[in-house]
Amino acid sequence: MKNKLFKDIFKKGDILIAVVLIVAVVLTAVFATRTEESFVEIYVDGHLAYQLDLDADIVVDLADTIHKIDLVVEVKDGMVKVTESNCPDKLCVHSSAVSSAGGMIICLPNKVVVKVTPKEVDAIS
Ligand SMILES: [Zn+2]
Repeated sequence: MKNKLFKDIFKKGDILIAVVLIVAVVLTAVFATRTEESFVEIYVDGHLAYQLDLDADIVVDLADTIHKIDLVVEVKDGMVKVTESNCPDKLCVHSSAVSSAGGMIICLPNKVVVKVTPKEVDAIS
């Protein structure tokens, strides 16, 4: 009887270990995807003006007297957003922060594109 009880506990322990392992594997996968390094690229009038690290917090003031741009881009906690802009519509400022590769914020009046791209260099392009 005592032996059977021990076996039952042992089995439950096995299941627990299996669950913990599965959770650990899933968490590792999620964490690995989340921390996949990405660049923040800021294009002004079609030209790459800045290439920033998405993981490094920074505030970039895009003050360009030639293009009459006054736009502030903030990279914080792995997300990028436009915090200030002199454009009339302010669509870029109201755009939600971008945190994953492929996401972008566009300011049409200022011809500014803020884009998140993966760090892996694409051999085809
Ligand atoms: Zn704008």
